[in-house]
Amino acid sequence: MPAPLSPAPTVPAELIAALQTLLGPKGWSMDASVLEQHNREARGKFTGAADIVLYPASTDEVAACVRLCHRAAIALVPQGGNTGRCGGAVADNGQILINLGRMNQIINTDARDFTMTVQAGTILHTIQQTAENHDLLFPLSLGAQGSCQIGGNLATNAGGLNVIRYGNTRDLVLGLEVVLADGTIWNGLSKLRKDNTGYDLRDLFIGSEGTLGIITACTLKLFPRPRQIATAWVALESVDAALDLLALARRESGDAIAAFELMSQFAQDLCIRHIQNCTTPLQTVAPWYAMIEITSSRPHDDLTTVMHGLLERALESGFISDGTIAQSEAQRANLWALREGIPPAQTREGGSIKHDVSVPVSSVPALIERGIAQALKRIPGIRPCPFGHVGDGNIHFNFSQPVDMPREVFLAQWENLNRDIHDIVADLGGSISAEHGIGRLKVEELAHYADPAKMQLLKAIKQAIDPQNTLNPGKIVNPA
Ligand SMILES: Cc1cc2nc3c(=O)[nH]c(=O)nc-3n(C[C@H](O)[C@H](O)[C@H](O)COP(=O)(O)OP(=O)(O)OC[C@H]3O[C@@H](n4cnc5c(N)ncnc54)[C@H](O)[C@@H]3O)c2cc1C
Repeated sequence: MPAPLSPAPTVPAELIAALQTLLGPKGWSMDASVLEQHNREARGKFTGAADIVLYPASTDEVAACVRLCHRAAIALVPQGGNTGRCGGAVADNGQILINLGRMNQIINTDARDFTMTVQAGTILHTIQQTAENHDLLFPLSLGAQGSCQIGGNLATNAGGLNVIRYGNTRDLVLGLEVVLADGTIWNGLSKLRKDNTGYDLRDLFIGSEGTLGIITACTLKLFPRPRQIATAWVALESVDAALDLLALARRESGDAIAAFELMSQFAQDLCIRHIQNCTTPLQTVAPWYAMIEITSSRPHDDLTTVMHGLLERALESGFISDGTIAQSEAQRANLWALREGIPPAQTREGGSIKHDVSVPVSSVPALIERGIAQALKRIPGIRPCPFGHVGDGNIHFNFSQPVDMPREVFLAQWENLNRDIHDIVADLGGSISAEHGIGRLKVEELAHYADPAKMQLLKAIKQAIDPQNTLNPGKIVNPA
């Protein structure tokens, strides 16, 4: 007979009462329908079980909540916009969710320092808009920008569409304010561009997915706003040709590439089938397509001419078989809709198994060729749908279910296919998580593939900074 299950852990009633008193009526919820939203993980791979969500309104309130939970040895799971892809913001029974959404103030924008200081719950799109209102740019850009929070972007070191030009979130931050596991506040809200005073704590918290501290504010880098933009869509015969085109485009544009996105014909077809108003930009049918965007903040640059020259040379060299340049904002929006429509289109097409991986840019063709061959061997009829930020070597190596296979049968192969693809990635010197992080989803994969010395250091850091393991336990690394 199976052993009886131990009773589910619960948050002590006295702790709940103390937190409710501390935060007041706007600062928490135990309403079932509200909790359902916070406990639901977008991909449906995990379901949270928190009985209470906290909404602190200030850094001091975050610190006071953390102190109370630390004393009671109850775990806290930080949550931003809950758009993460790895189950990092999912809380178990007996754990408390702390959502930063009420801490959404822009503290200041400094056009001489080219910086903006904001609270961690500020929505990414609000930050982009505020920068634009000051005739500046905050370049982090991703499909979830209307709902993800900058604290979540920092905690996951989000990548997105402009990494080739501006880097990951890590590269866009100057300072942080963080509440530590015992409730101490670390004020590292610096605007300094140079500061070599010991270990880089900022970089330690960026990408730590809520396991080392709760980020409450940050100072971000701003850039001159682009005044000229040219966007093109091209047809390619191979992934190899995409790399030749990328190298040519970098040279011809003076490294002005802001985005270079690759997608298969299948991915484009899915968008046209499932996403309203998406149309084919080219008559030419090809196995691969790429979207190139170049930008300049110099008002008089003629980027359309630069893009024309680039496409002409790419045609002459045989790198592309066709291409078109957006002639209006509506045409440009259609190109972006084709690119950003791939994940929702794939969802509408049925079950999909996904990988967020990176390899050196030069190894992308080998990754795609070997990955597709292996996937077809494991699941005949599987429909490969690789796409993504090829300029950074980051491929969202997704697969749609075979047409005639039941969804559950296909999804039961998730772990096996992950292992197949991750083995190839490891063999090519790549990473099993390019931009989405580890969360809960990839804890075992990280332990399997990471260098042993790296795992030892990760555990030692977690143990040193959160010895009680009360900050987002079970994510990234298990210290024991
Ligand atoms: C349509 C779509 C497109 C996407 N495109 C991209 C993309 O191009 N590139 C990319 O990198 N990601 C992408 N993502 C994934 C996701 O948007 C990012 O990971 C984002 O950074 C998560 O932010 P969030 O506020 O939703 O965080 P959440 O999902 O709420 O949390 C993510 C992790 O961060 C922790 N966390 C959240 N806030 C804090 C805080 N204040 N302090 C400490 N820890 C915290 C959580 O505990 C969790 O571990 C996409 C997601 C969607 C739905």
